[in-house]
Amino acid sequence: MFYKEVSEGQKVEIPGEIVKRSSRSKANLPEYSYPSPDKAALADKALTVTERLAVQYGPARWSRKDPLSMLVDIILSHRTRDQQTAAAYAALRNRYATWEDLRDAPTAEVEATIQGVTWPELKAPRLQALLRRITAEQGSLNLDFLKDWPVEEGAEWLNRLQGVGPKTTACVLLFSCRKPILPVDTHVHRVSIRLGLIGPKVTAEAAHGLLQALLPNEAQTIYNFHKGLLRHGQQVCVYDGPRCQQCVLRDICGYYRQVVLPKTRTLA
Ligand code: SF4
Repeated sequence: MFYKEVSEGQKVEIPGEIVKRSSRSKANLPEYSYPSPDKAALADKALTVTERLAVQYGPARWSRKDPLSMLVDIILSHRTRDQQTAAAYAALRNRYATWEDLRDAPTAEVEATIQGVTWPELKAPRLQALLRRITAEQGSLNLDFLKDWPVEEGAEWLNRLQGVGPKTTACVLLFSCRKPILPVDTHVHRVSIRLGLIGPKVTAEAAHGLLQALLPNEAQTIYNFHKGLLRHGQQVCVYDGPRCQQCVLRDICGYYRQVVLPKTRTLA
């Protein structure tokens, strides 16, 4: 059976034959994979991007949240601005002394507590269901065991949970467990495509594996790449009109070379 993730954690079933045919025909096309067969050159470029953005925005700092707290935080953050996410997380922490208290609270009360995030009516029951399932499976409400597991096993374990998609899984394992796994959010996805690290039709889900394969298997570098592209996507390489004249990546950017420069020359 095959599923397509229509949003983080929301999957719809699609016929297997369609998936098999389309993935077979598209997987090797540059638009759906790497834009160049020279993977070593792409890996060098990914490292240069990481280093320049670490200088620009500073190296990524590790979170002090334990993996379960990070899971709660990331679920709150879906399609929600950082400020609202932080406010909702703080509200949960203030209202409930422990995550067990959140798990056992009336759902309407939880929904009211996180009302500043997008879709509180979905996130409140989803959070509580997740906490109940973890308790049932582990015998306690704790995900610290993921720190000791190999990254692939941890990812598989988290990905099974209802409402937990590849991005959430990677965030928990990288940010809290310091495992070498790359989360790809909308900014990382967009900036990577513009730079020419991946083809223009690579989905966010496929980008996880393609981009990670360009990076060293080392958590701090992967974290710097993620945070650097995230901040760059929020501040410079924004969705609607990238500010290329302010960008430290102009000389290695495919979008700048192919789209912006020709326009500048035409105007000159
Ligand atoms: S040069 Fe422009 S398009 Fe390329 S990464 Fe920088 S801001 Fe984005």
